[in-house]
Amino acid sequence: MSRVYNFSAGPAVLPEEVLKEAADEMMDYRGCGMSVMEMSHRSKVYDDIIKTAEADLRSLLSIPDDYEVMFLQGGASQQFAMIPMNLMKNKVADYIVTGQWAKKAYQEAQIYGKANKIASSEDKTFSYIPDCSDLPISPDADYVYICENNTIYGTKFKKLPNTKGKTLVSDVSSCFLSEPMDVTRYGLVYGGVQKNIGPAGVVIVIMKKELITEDVLPGTPTMLRYKIHADAKSLYNTPPAYGIYICGKVFKWIQKMGGLEAMKQRNEEKAKILYDFLDESSLFKGTVVKEDRSLMNVPFITGNEELDAKFVKESKAAGFENLKGHRSVGGMRASIYNAMPIEGVKALVEFMKKFEVENK
Ligand SMILES: *Cc1c(COP(=O)(O)O)cnc(C)c1O
Repeated sequence: MSRVYNFSAGPAVLPEEVLKEAADEMMDYRGCGMSVMEMSHRSKVYDDIIKTAEADLRSLLSIPDDYEVMFLQGGASQQFAMIPMNLMKNKVADYIVTGQWAKKAYQEAQIYGKANKIASSEDKTFSYIPDCSDLPISPDADYVYICENNTIYGTKFKKLPNTKGKTLVSDVSSCFLSEPMDVTRYGLVYGGVQKNIGPAGVVIVIMKKELITEDVLPGTPTMLRYKIHADAKSLYNTPPAYGIYICGKVFKWIQKMGGLEAMKQRNEEKAKILYDFLDESSLFKGTVVKEDRSLMNVPFITGNEELDAKFVKESKAAGFENLKGHRSVGGMRASIYNAMPIEGVKALVEFMKKFEVENK
């Protein structure tokens, strides 16, 4: 068996311990004589898996009782529609557009009501987070929407926007469980799990219970109503059962690693190694304003497209996978999620140093 250092933005690296455990349990889950993939989602055994996963997530994030936790399907993108369908009571919402994912959510919301772009960083190819301390929040806005960590551009909100009392909705797909988060500051916070937590397809929604009502936009499909899933404890229909089981294992792994404070320290240490090198390198440079740098996604360039392509090719040959930047921005991007070991980042920087010497 040989594993590469996988810098993919998503689906992304998972902890080896988790993968090994899942492999060990593949044929016979703890004496059941079957795989988790094969069992009824209504069985006692599965009930224990999903309940334990929820309890562990609640403890990791200190989620209070007045918040619901839902394991849903359709990935993060499904939420782009589900959020306005369920929350746009006045049919008005404010969007802060800091990248492709926020833009997609903003465009989707326009189908359902009046979505206002109240701030954007598109003028500088989304390389910064706009000042959100005093935005023109619409008086009748049902919510203010952000994408907290911009996976493609490598920026992160270090400070949440001042919503002037409006409900904050946040897409945390690519920074989920990378550091502590105060859930009570949001009305709804959600993330596709394939960046930091598990297999693609599962999306976790953490939502203030008082926002979960039957009062949704006319025509909202049953499957897209939060109330249906909240009342059924994520078991209205067959959930993405195997995916949730892996998420549960990742929650246990994070607990074992010391929880979210320890994750944060580890992630800061890893990111520093890479950013420090980018700041001193004479060949490579980061593309993001320093204050807004993400701990998870680190885009960088040489300034020469041919050299970028050469780097991607040679790094792949040396065992560093998926360093090519997103197709919309080019260059390179190293995604260094929770499960990327510090050795992976150190090895990458050593490789970059060598490449720099050879290509000066
Ligand atoms: C990957 C990603 C998405 C899209 O996730 P899907 O599960 O493919 O729909 C949305 N938002 C952010 C921030 C992402 O990183």
